[in-house]
Amino acid sequence: MEKIPDQLTWALPEKPIFSIDTTNACNLFCKCCSRGQRYEKNTKDVMSYKLFTSIIEKIADIGASALNLFVFTEPFLQQNLLKFASYAKSKSIADINLSSNLSFPEPKDFIKTLGYIDKLIVSVSGFSQKNLFYKPLWWKNRFC
Ligand code: SF4
Repeated sequence: MEKIPDQLTWALPEKPIFSIDTTNACNLFCKCCSRGQRYEKNTKDVMSYKLFTSIIEKIADIGASALNLFVFTEPFLQQNLLKFASYAKSKSIADINLSSNLSFPEPKDFIKTLGYIDKLIVSVSGFSQKNLFYKPLWWKNRFC
């Protein structure tokens, strides 16, 4: 593989950043997103704790500058998110990050989970029904 020129490497982290989706669903329909437009279908599949811990072991061995617990999903639809985040933190991964739309009444273990999170990104796509960029689908009907 060709070496990246030194002038381009100043902004790169020394260690890799990993991103993991532990569910494959989102409760919104953002127009800009393949999940939101359901090109990637929501299902009830979630990552098992056993698989998650085995991945985290490998990431901890390699060393990571950050772990994002999201890609194209809503992470709080993973009902074991607290357990997952606390395990990742126990492996001394520096930055554990979440991105959530927070568009549901009461995320499970929300405050406790934040205790293991270094950065929370809140994704906002509109402030009124008129300019809303998505159509919310509430918690009860989250798998569509
Ligand atoms: S909230 Fe995020 S994952 Fe969900 S549809 Fe919108 S952009 Fe996609």
